[in-house]
Amino acid sequence: MGLPPQLTAEQRQQALLKAANSRKRRAEVKSKMKNGEISIDDILLLAKNEDAIAKMRVKELLESLSGVGKVRAQSLMERLNISPSRRIQGLGRLQVKQLREEFMKSDHAVKPGKLLVLSGPGGVGKSTVAKELREAGDFWVSVSATTRKPRSNEIDGRDYFFVTDEEFTRMVNADEFLEWAEFAGNRYGTPLEKVEHALLLGRNVLLEIEIAGAKQVKAHLPQSVLVFLEPPTWEELVSRLEGRGTDSPERRAERLELAQEELAAASFFDVVLVNDQVKSVVGKLIELSHN
Ligand code: 5GP
Repeated sequence: MGLPPQLTAEQRQQALLKAANSRKRRAEVKSKMKNGEISIDDILLLAKNEDAIAKMRVKELLESLSGVGKVRAQSLMERLNISPSRRIQGLGRLQVKQLREEFMKSDHAVKPGKLLVLSGPGGVGKSTVAKELREAGDFWVSVSATTRKPRSNEIDGRDYFFVTDEEFTRMVNADEFLEWAEFAGNRYGTPLEKVEHALLLGRNVLLEIEIAGAKQVKAHLPQSVLVFLEPPTWEELVSRLEGRGTDSPERRAERLELAQEELAAASFFDVVLVNDQVKSVVGKLIELSHN
């Protein structure tokens, strides 16, 4: 067996300081858990970025939850097959999922957020509404992946994650999408994990997607609220689509035809809103998230 590394006095001092800081940080986080200020999900999220939290023992974490205590923590760990010395960073994906589910059921859960799906014909103004909502701060707005090429005013990671056809196919096969659909020759999809995460943290989530995708979301998550945005008049929609200088004339014609079909889908939706004024639509969506 090799000898332990020889540390200089300075290195020892630094190691001690680091350990003290980690203990302090863990105590701080545990006290927040006890007071109900943060949830088990917040801790799992913190553990992804902070070594001090990643190295906390699962036992210590569970015991610090108000109302759990040593006995319940132990029986829970036995049931989920988590060894007593396991640290958060060593939890398997399934164990994390089971722990989450356990606490979603109990009164320790943060109330999950609302999932609103905003859909409607292309050109009706969904993205303007989504942008306003993101800025108002009431919603976490999902950023989709797409195989479409970026328009001149779009930024990767902000407007979309622009991916190749191969990467999109990989994501489909790896079940990384909550829903995905083809629209006007390109594929668009909602990354699942980020949406789930935001909902579990209690954030209201908004998806701004086309109709086939909205239907898939409802099938997977029946508690989602599907909102259909209608133009005040058909003429208004035509003029918006015609005025879109970023599309070629063929693409605009194609989109007009699609929009006609899309308008017929309104009856499938939980709520229909007329986009006469962006501010009023935004207000109504915020109201829906409180219901
Ligand atoms: P655009 O190319 O104009 O940005 O978007 C075309 C259509 O795709 C819009 O109706 C938009 O709402 C929709 N879309 C954007 N992201 C997604 C997505 O992740 N899934 C689905 N199904 N549609 C999306």
